[in-house]
Amino acid sequence: MKRIGFIGLGIMGKPMSLNLLKAGYPVTVYNRSRPAVDAVVAAGARVASSPKEVAQNSDVVITIVTDTPDVQQVVLGPNGVIEGARKGLVLIDMSTISPKVTRTISSELAKAGTAMLDAPVSGGDKGAREGTLTIMVGGPEDAFNECLPILQAMGKKVVRMGDSGAGQLTKLANQILVMGNIMGVCECLVFAKKAGLDQKRVIDSLSAGAASSWSLINLGPRAVDGDFAPGFKIKLLQKDLKLVLASANELNVALPASAMGHQLYNALEAAGMGEEGTQALIKIFEEMAGLR
Ligand code: NAP
Repeated sequence: MKRIGFIGLGIMGKPMSLNLLKAGYPVTVYNRSRPAVDAVVAAGARVASSPKEVAQNSDVVITIVTDTPDVQQVVLGPNGVIEGARKGLVLIDMSTISPKVTRTISSELAKAGTAMLDAPVSGGDKGAREGTLTIMVGGPEDAFNECLPILQAMGKKVVRMGDSGAGQLTKLANQILVMGNIMGVCECLVFAKKAGLDQKRVIDSLSAGAASSWSLINLGPRAVDGDFAPGFKIKLLQKDLKLVLASANELNVALPASAMGHQLYNALEAAGMGEEGTQALIKIFEEMAGLR
């Protein structure tokens, strides 16, 4: 079985690495901070002291860190993956980052004979835990075929979308829908409350119909309960919306709903809520309806 290196044990990375261990892969992990490492080591992972050491001990290295500069740092920076890279190694970056920078990192790695797949995910913390993520992949077809069983240990739907960057572009398309869905859910639930309806029963009945969505089913109940703990942090959706709007400018396409959502989340970030889950958007609609 291929030796897997795993860098970034956050909300997503930790359960994804546990699923790889469960599937029987030998896994070497690196995380900047310690507590998440202990939990994964207890499940059988080895620890490395740097991304470079991870690469030296792996056939396939997976990264899932926060933002574009973070991927650049763990891959191309000092003691980064590139310093331990060699011919035949495959890097799979599962973070959501810039499609343009993805292509640059891929070209840098290609000089060492290392292939790169961009393989961002959708399905949230729940999908990461249950191994049911959707994985959108860009990069060389042979590397994709080689890594497919590994991706299938973490996800249910794995699709190669094209060359380097195509996975990230697909993920940005996904985030346009994520934004629109959560905005609709929050408006709907505040409307229901004002109308004197039981919000949980509204979720239950609508989730069987044409207006259902992942957001309604998974985030709606959390919003109603006032549970704003992050599955997906506001600051991360904001990062993604910046990438969406930058790409929209380059492509000369208008995305008014995404732009408005980005502005509403700016207001929540300004009020210190960037670490809360995206369902905290309901607070703005409650405020506007006089419910707070
Ligand atoms: P998270 O819980 O904040 O975890 C981020 C991880 O990246 C942590 O392990 C962090 O290490 C590590 N990290 C960040 N910057 C680093 C750096 N410069 N060097 C080394 N390690 C670094 O975030 P998450 O929710 O797991 O999200 C990770 C990625 O997946 C993001 O790109 C996000 O957009 C994407 N994603 C998230 C979701 C979701 O629902 N959460 C869904 C789909 C995609 P420390 O522990 O030391 O901070």
